[in-house]
Amino acid sequence: MHHFKSDIFRYSVFSMVLFYAAIVIAYEYTQYQIKSVMVEHIEWITENTSLEYNGETLPSVKRRTADEMAAMFYGLNEDPNNHSENDRKVVKNSNVSALYNFRTNTLYFKPDFRFADWETTHILVHELVHFLQMTNNRYGDNPCMPRLEGYAYMIQTQWQKEHEHPADIPNGLRIMTLITAGC
Ligand SMILES: [Zn+2]
Repeated sequence: MHHFKSDIFRYSVFSMVLFYAAIVIAYEYTQYQIKSVMVEHIEWITENTSLEYNGETLPSVKRRTADEMAAMFYGLNEDPNNHSENDRKVVKNSNVSALYNFRTNTLYFKPDFRFADWETTHILVHELVHFLQMTNNRYGDNPCMPRLEGYAYMIQTQWQKEHEHPADIPNGLRIMTLITAGC
């Protein structure tokens, strides 16, 4: 006996399962690619600095706009409607391209940031230095944020020079000012 309707039903269930399986595989593959890119840069950092990596959980990745990241960085209210005149100025004048939250081990990137994009890889390397500063207990109880920032820029500079990366080299004087900050 041939049941035409149930065949269609079976076929559509089957294609739906295939469709979702494809989505899951694509998602898993992207996660895998992101992780391998991170591990590759982490290896370079550990080979060229005193920071070590011992298989700690890699940061989770979230997407935020530059303004949202600026608000997070300066500890402002999440809702821009609650920002004062001064808050708005702070957000407008800052240009945050990425952030690392060492308390939650989270990396924040702009929505259009691509892990495979060579032009912006220096940003990823910089943020991964912060990740390793966290796993190597450099934040401690009372972190000296400017100094940690200075070292991240210093290592980023070294990475850019070694890879002849096209992005502008961070300002050396500013790095020295950050590193010698009295905390
Ligand atoms: Zn930084």
